[in-house]
Amino acid sequence: MPDCIFCRIAAGEIPAAKVHDSEHLIAFRDVNPQAPVHILIIPKRHVESVLALQEADSPLVGEIHFLAARLARDEGIADSGFRLVTNTNAAAGQSVPHLHFHLLGGRPMRWPPG
Ligand code: AMP
Repeated sequence: MPDCIFCRIAAGEIPAAKVHDSEHLIAFRDVNPQAPVHILIIPKRHVESVLALQEADSPLVGEIHFLAARLARDEGIADSGFRLVTNTNAAAGQSVPHLHFHLLGGRPMRWPPG
């Protein structure tokens, strides 16, 4: 999608602090971090949100979660605890309409989230 900022990051047209780049996924540091570790994991292919996922995307969703666990270990937040969040549509605060999972850690998290 030409106007999608995350598609443009995936294509290398907009710089990002990448921590992972593989066939289907990239991960990069959020420009406005809400925790000491705040990484976004996205599919390279444009998917608007979890609502747009098809059953055939199940391996992709699994890959995202395995990557999240690996990055959590690499970033040293696996044992202390972390949160993996995807906001969907306006009331949840989704501001970029390209599926992304926030990996947040390095500080205590409150529940329920605001
Ligand atoms: P959400 O509000 O759940 O859609 O999350 C979008 C996230 O993308 C926010 O946390 C933003 O700070 C982040 N963001 C927007 N543009 C960029 C960018 N160019 N590089 C890194 N993170 C970004």
